[in-house]
Amino acid sequence: SSSPSLSIDFGKSSETEEMHVENVAEPLLVSQFVLPTLVDKLVYDALVWSSLHGLVTGDKSFQRSGTRPGVGLVHAPFALLPMPFPENYWNQACELAPIFNELVDRVSLDGKFLQDCLSRTKKVDRFTSRLLEIHSKMLEINKEEPIRLGLHRSDYMLDAETELLLQIELNTISSSFSGLSCLVSELHRYLLNQHGKNLGLNPRSVPTNSAVGQFAEALAKAWNEYNNSRAVVLFVIQPEERNMYDQHWLSFVLKDIHGVNTIRKTLAEVDAEGQLLPDGSLAIGDQIVAVVYFRAGYSPNDYPSELEWHARLMMEQSTSIKCPSISYHLVGTKKIQQELAKPFVLERFLEDKEDVAKLRKCFAGLWSLDEPEVVKRAIERPEVFVLKPQREGGGNNIYDNDVKDMLIKLQQENSEEQAAYILMQRIFPAASLSYLVREGECYEKQVISELGIFGAYLRNNDKVIVNSQSGYLMRTKVSSSNEGGVAAGYAVLDSIYLT
Ligand code: ADP
Ligand code: MG
Ligand code: MG
Repeated sequence: SSSPSLSIDFGKSSETEEMHVENVAEPLLVSQFVLPTLVDKLVYDALVWSSLHGLVTGDKSFQRSGTRPGVGLVHAPFALLPMPFPENYWNQACELAPIFNELVDRVSLDGKFLQDCLSRTKKVDRFTSRLLEIHSKMLEINKEEPIRLGLHRSDYMLDAETELLLQIELNTISSSFSGLSCLVSELHRYLLNQHGKNLGLNPRSVPTNSAVGQFAEALAKAWNEYNNSRAVVLFVIQPEERNMYDQHWLSFVLKDIHGVNTIRKTLAEVDAEGQLLPDGSLAIGDQIVAVVYFRAGYSPNDYPSELEWHARLMMEQSTSIKCPSISYHLVGTKKIQQELAKPFVLERFLEDKEDVAKLRKCFAGLWSLDEPEVVKRAIERPEVFVLKPQREGGGNNIYDNDVKDMLIKLQQENSEEQAAYILMQRIFPAASLSYLVREGECYEKQVISELGIFGAYLRNNDKVIVNSQSGYLMRTKVSSSNEGGVAAGYAVLDSIYLT
């Protein structure tokens, strides 16, 4: 990853009392002008609340914080107050969730479309090619996935110039923060309950966030469809995971509310301890796996050797419900996002014209690098584009002059490498002031936000069991930073204040 951590260049706030008094009746602006003593009080209360309610991550300065729960915890980075967000855009984003859920399912069934769209990318991107290999093998054996579970997160930014809600990307694997995002919404409601009068803010304007409950419910319903009361849900995890509490929230609710057991294994452990039984089911030791839930496996780093690929293939071959299946995973690639944005492609997968129009309205400009005019424009004005490789997890995109340099380099080499990237219109959200809290310190910063809407989808053959918008995640980052990952260290968790 290339961008600096949020914690590096923050200065302390120096707002004055007068500013607070003048603006107290203006809720939209209130976060800019909070009395410093009130800020201190809010920060203190927020830090206590986070510690008491499990809004926490592993502290990277503690060696075992990524492997052992309960050791070396620190509060998750958060925005002190919810970000104002217009209700009409919120409704729009929520409405899109079930349509994207359906789209992912439809596209996943078109194996040829996925293979064709990614055929050139495959030649230059080893990781994508390994995923496609597994996908091909499943096509060859006519592998059927009658029960399909998707736990997605569609991310958006509000483009200031066009005033459009535009999709950044659709995550179909390891969509994170269903656990912690609910807690941030609760934290903000708590702070507004305690101090809302002084702030001129109403706690009820923070929409309820039940992401963890809804994701756990979808996992439980999938487990139920598998119909083996002794089977477990397998969380496939990275060997070191400081965001483990976000995951533990999900498995905790799964057990506490639904009585479903979870086991946690790395890809290497799945390879060592897993086997396919004669009936096609996946066993880890003596436990049958009903659902494989991936919180690893989306990055080449997750596959340091052939063992991990072997484990991935074995899981895919099994009768377990995969969240995501290899097809769902591929639908979430940036290349497929770009292909779906081409004219008349959505229409191949969705019949409802209104649905198609709603999706298209949130698509930003997306291009492959074999469109010479677009590449030319991007070389001239690199700052209004983002160059993206087929990667997940933040920190992989190319911005500004690096876009130009890379495009020129690719042109000079006239190389196949071009197929590894897509070009995207850069979205510019309006910046505002916010208080960001990281490692116990509060920083007032000029920020921009990205809204993620969780979506859950479960079907068994023709029966759609779940298709819903399932909570949200607001992430806020300093406006000067290009990337936005919270785990990657660029952003903080936030919620929204409807305006
Ligand atoms: P990843 O799968 O790694 O999360 P994203 O496409 O979400 O990849 O890009 C990472 C981050 O880069 C986003 O969270 C956002 O902050 C920023 N970003 C991505 N695309 C754009 C864009 N078109 N305009 C502005 N910022 C973008
Ligand atoms: Mg992503
Ligand atoms: Mg992203």
